[in-house]
Amino acid sequence: MKIVILGAGAMGSLFGAKLSPLADVWLVDPWADHVGAMQRNGLHLIGLDGSETVVTVQAATDPAAVGGEVDLAIVFVKSHQTAEAAGWAKPLLKPTGLALTLQNGLGNLETIAGELGPGRAAQGVTAQGATLLGPGRVRHAGQGPTHIAAPASLPGFGGLADVAKLFAQAGFETHLSDNLDALLWGKLVVNVGINALTAILRVPNGRLVEVEPARSLMAAAVDEAVRVVRAKGIQLPYDDPQERVKAVAVATGPNRSSMLSDVSRGVPTEIDVINGAIVREGASLGIPTPVNQPLVWLVKAIEATYA
Ligand code: NAD
Repeated sequence: MKIVILGAGAMGSLFGAKLSPLADVWLVDPWADHVGAMQRNGLHLIGLDGSETVVTVQAATDPAAVGGEVDLAIVFVKSHQTAEAAGWAKPLLKPTGLALTLQNGLGNLETIAGELGPGRAAQGVTAQGATLLGPGRVRHAGQGPTHIAAPASLPGFGGLADVAKLFAQAGFETHLSDNLDALLWGKLVVNVGINALTAILRVPNGRLVEVEPARSLMAAAVDEAVRVVRAKGIQLPYDDPQERVKAVAVATGPNRSSMLSDVSRGVPTEIDVINGAIVREGASLGIPTPVNQPLVWLVKAIEATYA
């Protein structure tokens, strides 16, 4: 299988490192220092047990370097770069090729499908975690299942069964699903509770549960998201959303959320597709979002005042 990974940040590098020994994989990313380091010295992967391996990878800043058509494009850019990544995917994909996004938040799949046409884009969610340590160095930060959903227009999941098999060979527990909403919203509700608050308060995930006012804010943001979920008739993949969000915050206690790491680095966050998605969906359903709206404003104010 020939694969291009569009966006070789933390997650793109993790998947690139694990998939490269098994398939013809290209990592494409405009960050020249990172691509140069991978080309010169390989991709250094720090495993969950702390061990370091060096993986030979094919990496480029220019999608044209991939040469030849690919069966699969895995989209791992941040959400504000999704449209650009879909544009890179278009000329690279075989006519039967698929783009698969494993990004967080709402709207990435629609953006990609808008560029590639219906039936050529799929969405999954992953509980794998990764942290980029510097050019050419990534840490595998957390392990959990990956679920891939296929749109109804892809009969028999298209080629996604082969993709799931390959991911499993790479060590990523992977399942196919026919319920995209449950997958996507199940992860979104957790991100709504954790990401914006950790970025605003500059605390690791676990502090949100330990500090009472933060815990109340988290519960209120999640409550608004759950009202939206119920109004849309979506069945979440767990029974108690409040307990689920707290359990994830505790289980990932020392971790810095991706939004906290974005504001620390002074780069755009994914606030628009996470808490912003709850505000938009709430507005269209007549559900007030008096907690998520100020969280969005606060994160946007932080972005607007980066030094
Ligand atoms: P990332 O910020 O590491 O990478 C995104 C882009 O930023 C890449 O193009 C990368 O090259 C660039 N970048 C990263 N560090 C940089 C630096 N120091 N200087 C210059 N450019 C840099 O993003 P990610 O964490 O891999 O997330 C990609 C998608 O996957 C997002 O939608 C995210 O929500 C989702 N996701 C992330 C994780 C995780 O653990 N990181 C887990 C599940 C889903």
